[in-house]
Amino acid sequence: MKTAAAALLLMAALSTTGAASVQAAARQSNTGQGFGKQYVSLNNWARANEFTIRWIERDKTLQCSNPRARLVFNVDPRQDLRKAQINGVVVWLAFPLVLQNGNAFISQVDLEQTLAPVLSPPANRPGIKIKTVCLDPGHGGSDPGEVSGGNVEKKYTLLLAQEVRDQLTRAGLKVCMTRTTDATVKVQARPEIARQHNADLFVSMHFNCSEQARNEVKGVEVYCCTPAGATSRNAGGEGDTRWVKGNQYNEKNMLLAYQVQESILKSLAVEDRGVKRARFLVLSEAAMPAILIEGGFLSHPAEGRKIADPAYRRQMARAIVEGILNYQRIVKG
Ligand SMILES: [Zn+2]
Repeated sequence: MKTAAAALLLMAALSTTGAASVQAAARQSNTGQGFGKQYVSLNNWARANEFTIRWIERDKTLQCSNPRARLVFNVDPRQDLRKAQINGVVVWLAFPLVLQNGNAFISQVDLEQTLAPVLSPPANRPGIKIKTVCLDPGHGGSDPGEVSGGNVEKKYTLLLAQEVRDQLTRAGLKVCMTRTTDATVKVQARPEIARQHNADLFVSMHFNCSEQARNEVKGVEVYCCTPAGATSRNAGGEGDTRWVKGNQYNEKNMLLAYQVQESILKSLAVEDRGVKRARFLVLSEAAMPAILIEGGFLSHPAEGRKIADPAYRRQMARAIVEGILNYQRIVKG
């Protein structure tokens, strides 16, 4: 609360330029919820980029649209001010929007590293191709991952990864895996295996479990590495804002995460938990664009049953492969 108030005061002082330095507010924060460095008026940005900006619901939901894209932002402070949508897919901003006198301000980091990678995707240099994908079935061996009833995460991450491997291979890509059996593989070793195989992309696969007593939480989310300066969505208020190796690929991380989440949403009737950021070790240490897919909740009775069904996993694998191939087409340049 203190941080938000400080940020708003700074916004008020500097809003005539449409950008504000709220670094001081971030520094004062002892909650780990920094506001980043620079904010830009969403109105100004939309005008400069030929978006029409209008309320979907007054003081609650703001839309920026043009013939090519539709962005939706939550501006209701009672909800999470990081929740946005790009073309119907939920994407969590690295920093919450800041509101002042009915105007919304968005962080420069999000313009550059959340919106831009999807709206104006990065391209590989000519001749640079995506040839090898490293698949990382989460957990294994002595680490079962999440366990819910008879469902054990490590079993289904491997089965899903094997299905993705088979389909990617048929699509002409080379695949390496961090494990092919129920083996214990240290989390630190996983990005290293990808690097040793000269993998061009790293895709980690996991399933979720809800700690709530009622097993109503369900849906799919795809993570990529948190930009430097921002705190992560996960890990209960993780205050860490450092630069990590995975930040070299911020734009491509975001594009890959978005393409895979979009593809999964198109082909499976799952709840959209969105594209999120986290400094999971496999993402922060990756030496190539990397994502981590949480493919559903083992703890949700219906979703848990689906994850245990080979036909459903095959369909999910097809969606993941399609997302990777879409990414490949987009960055081809
Ligand atoms: Zn896991």
